[in-house]
Amino acid sequence: MRIGFGYDSHRLVEGRRLILGGVEVPFKQGLLGHSDGDALTHAITDSIIGALGLKDIGTHFPDTDERYKDASSVMLLKSIVELARTKGFEVSWVDCTVIAEAPKLAPYVDAMKDALLQTGIQGVNIKAKTNEGMGFVGRGEGIAAYAVCLLREVG
Ligand code: MG
Repeated sequence: MRIGFGYDSHRLVEGRRLILGGVEVPFKQGLLGHSDGDALTHAITDSIIGALGLKDIGTHFPDTDERYKDASSVMLLKSIVELARTKGFEVSWVDCTVIAEAPKLAPYVDAMKDALLQTGIQGVNIKAKTNEGMGFVGRGEGIAAYAVCLLREVG
């Protein structure tokens, strides 16, 4: 078995759609990024890359590469789940936390779970929190996410 850990944060800006866990969440701002800015999916992706010992998400999907401009982060995650499979591992479980002062994400957690399960991961739990008004998340400047995963060798 392998474990992995991932973290990501993106800045909230006007004029972008807010995509988290592969789901569009209605909000006045969205996450700035070369891809769709989906910090939750990036944290999960980085946890799997870490468990595989293959560096980080920026190595696999450089933000200088036009192919990944406005890319669907769920599709990038799917390609990493497939990479894990070619290395002999399945993604048995992901546990993650997304931290946003606003909007309230709890109503979207089930839809995020459904979207993430489309990538081939075997199971996922998502927790949505605020940062109690503290720090950059608390000031509404951005959204952060943490993830851990367990990979199981299936040969
Ligand atoms: Mg990111």
